[in-house]
Amino acid sequence: MTVTSKVDSTQPSGASTAQSEALFDRARRVTPGGVNSPVRAFRSVGGVPRFMASADGAYLTDADGTRYVDYIGSWGPMILGHNHPAVRDAVVQAAQDGTSFGAPGWREVDLAELVCRVTGAQKVRFVNSGTEATMSALRLARGFTGRKYTLKFRGNYHGHADALLVEAGSGLMTNADQLGTAAPSSAGVPDEYARLTLVSEYNDPQALDALMRERGHEIAAVIFEPVVGNAGVLLPTPDFLSALHRVREHGTLLIADEVMTGFRLSANGATGRLGLTPDLSCWGKIIGGGLPVGAYGGRAEIMDFVSPQGPVYQAGTLSGNPLAMSAGLATLQALQDDPGLYARLDAYTERLAQGLQAAADEAGVTVCINHVGSMLTVFFQAGPVATYTDAARSDTAAFAVWFQGLLRRGVYWAPSQFESIFVSGVHGDTELQATLQAAREAFLEVAAHAGADA
Ligand SMILES: *Cc1c(COP(=O)(O)O)cnc(C)c1O
Repeated sequence: MTVTSKVDSTQPSGASTAQSEALFDRARRVTPGGVNSPVRAFRSVGGVPRFMASADGAYLTDADGTRYVDYIGSWGPMILGHNHPAVRDAVVQAAQDGTSFGAPGWREVDLAELVCRVTGAQKVRFVNSGTEATMSALRLARGFTGRKYTLKFRGNYHGHADALLVEAGSGLMTNADQLGTAAPSSAGVPDEYARLTLVSEYNDPQALDALMRERGHEIAAVIFEPVVGNAGVLLPTPDFLSALHRVREHGTLLIADEVMTGFRLSANGATGRLGLTPDLSCWGKIIGGGLPVGAYGGRAEIMDFVSPQGPVYQAGTLSGNPLAMSAGLATLQALQDDPGLYARLDAYTERLAQGLQAAADEAGVTVCINHVGSMLTVFFQAGPVATYTDAARSDTAAFAVWFQGLLRRGVYWAPSQFESIFVSGVHGDTELQATLQAAREAFLEVAAHAGADA
């Protein structure tokens, strides 16, 4: 590429990162890699991870006092923006009522009723993370069907339970490049566990039909991301959705992992948006409004297999915690009270996608932008990107240059090519213009970088 840039990509950042560097040094001494969840470490984009001090509205402020337009939204939960008054007030009120009872309380009943009403689930069980939700839903599916195999899709991420760390996306794609066929994506997962999880390609209805014909009778459940966020955004094709519905003909349960998409792509998640009817669904992220909550739910006939009603054991010391429930309740209520929100999120994201595409075109950088609702990924390649295999062809070095360019200009994008970004209800014109200006300059740096390499 011969585009020359007016922007010097080696320009000093201007903003200090001294406090983040000092915190990262201390963190690395006492925590593996200095972080409590891998993608936060910036391994695939380089540079020092920013340690955050506070968050408000559409903005994060780091330990050095630098403010960023935030596109992570805590990886999804903050659909209303940070520090939303209704959520904050609900949590403060709950804290004054006592932080944990070890006995049931009214907030978990309220939230369960609200979740059932919005999603169509008949019964729901609260846990403390998305990982717990998917792990528990699969145990339930096995208990209900009496079968031991499950099926997932390449590049879909369902949390870090043993049997689900097989061909998993996101942090694993970012940190380790080669994933073998149906091999564990992590050390410490025995092959014996991994073998209980069959893997098929996302958006390949023929492969799914074939596998179900051969093994369907022994498969308890098919678990899937109805819209994938964890390989970057991938949209399901109509044929693939039909094939998903057909798995039921084999007595196999359909489990929608809506941990990321639930309450985000519509009031009833991706399922509602796409017209899917799963047997069980898993939630996380938004359902806790920024506090640790997960949930799984669905048909009563299946859910009644869960203890103490049924034989499938599942428990949690802090499950249904009143603080966590209060944040979830306030968030879901605010979503209910603002029926125009989803249209606003879609409109912002559409303008963001168009602006980014135009900026990339002007700079002569090839990108493929996948987006739906308030989720979006800029893949550094020509596309189309419909599968994990497609996504893996992206130019991650170019992405890293772009990411750093955005960060230096005050835009905090997801620090990995294989993630979605998340728009919130308080992202408006000011944030959009600032983002597109930063993106234009960052794309020029990518072009200059590619020119320098050629
Ligand atoms: C984030 C995520 C999970 C895991 O949730 P945690 O709360 O991080 O354990 C599971 N499935 C999907 C689709 C996710 O996006």
